[in-house]
Amino acid sequence: MIIIDGSEGEGGGQIVRNSCALSLVTGQPFRIINVRGKREKPGLMRQHVTAIEAALAIGGAVCEGLEVGASDFSFTPGRVTPGEYHFAVGTAGSTGLVFQTLLMPLLLAGGSSRIVLEGGTHNMLAPPFDFIAKVFVPVVRRMGAGIDMRLVRHGFYPRGGGRIEVDIVPGKLAPIDCVDRGAVRSVSATALFAALPGNIAERELRTARNLLPDWPEDAFAMHQLPEGQGPGNALLLAAEFEQATEVVTGFGKLGVSAESLAKTAAQRMAGFLESRAFAGPYLADQLLLPFALAGGGSFTTVKPSQHARTAADIIERFTGQRWLFEQQPDGCHLVRL
Ligand code: ATP
Repeated sequence: MIIIDGSEGEGGGQIVRNSCALSLVTGQPFRIINVRGKREKPGLMRQHVTAIEAALAIGGAVCEGLEVGASDFSFTPGRVTPGEYHFAVGTAGSTGLVFQTLLMPLLLAGGSSRIVLEGGTHNMLAPPFDFIAKVFVPVVRRMGAGIDMRLVRHGFYPRGGGRIEVDIVPGKLAPIDCVDRGAVRSVSATALFAALPGNIAERELRTARNLLPDWPEDAFAMHQLPEGQGPGNALLLAAEFEQATEVVTGFGKLGVSAESLAKTAAQRMAGFLESRAFAGPYLADQLLLPFALAGGGSFTTVKPSQHARTAADIIERFTGQRWLFEQQPDGCHLVRL
């Protein structure tokens, strides 16, 4: 049994999700002690329990100690069964984080699957639907996977009620090199809002325009969602390159002004555009798992986050692979086996 100290490295929930996925694909049981040991409120939260329960359901796995608040649990994998699954991720729990847990095991299973996830689709501190569909999935598809996903209904914190559907057709994952992102093909700034005054979206777009002065006027758009999907707001900044796409998201939150949220998002996007990296900080930590399961490959990224380094450490525990993060003269990092 692999014993993992959940307070090491980044010390958060990503260790839990990556361990479940790696356990299901490698068949190795694990136990995590000090779960989320670096968080203010350590232990499993509802959303982590839901992700583990989803992993148990697809993987015929057995878990001991699984409950909200647990700081220690063990997981023994069974056989991953492809098929149709439906998981409701609490009220507004992130559907994206459950997707992260299930994708790799189902991609390597012996048949096609369809998963329906209900909950939040645009949650802070989690990959929003647009990021998964436009940034992450296209890279995994290029490795040989068949993934098709739809956003049926938006879900924002705290109300939730969103729905995404994913069709997964397994394929052998091949190592790929994602070193150059190519030239920019298009850019867009979309301010989503539901059951909130439209001027929030207008102010976000105005701020983003000032900070991204090269972006064409018609790249900026408001997108009002039906009242029933709100209240909620997110600013999505997207840059599509020849070989890659980046989506930077500002999540609307009580107490954070439209201007401040848009400023942070626009500055992050401007920083990424200035670099030559293929992957932004979030994509980098999320790509390590599919690359590891493909058995290699490489990609360039901005300064690797603690999340990425911790993901690499967890992968090493299950596969023995040692991922290297090499700083290039221009500040970009090359991540490779
Ligand atoms: P904890 O509460 O313990 O921090 P968690 O389970 O909520 O745990 P993390 O361990 O911080 O979350 O993992 C968050 C995941 O969401 C990471 O894979 C990160 O790349 C991704 N993520 C966070 N914010 C974004 C964003 N704006 N766009 C894309 N992905 C994101």
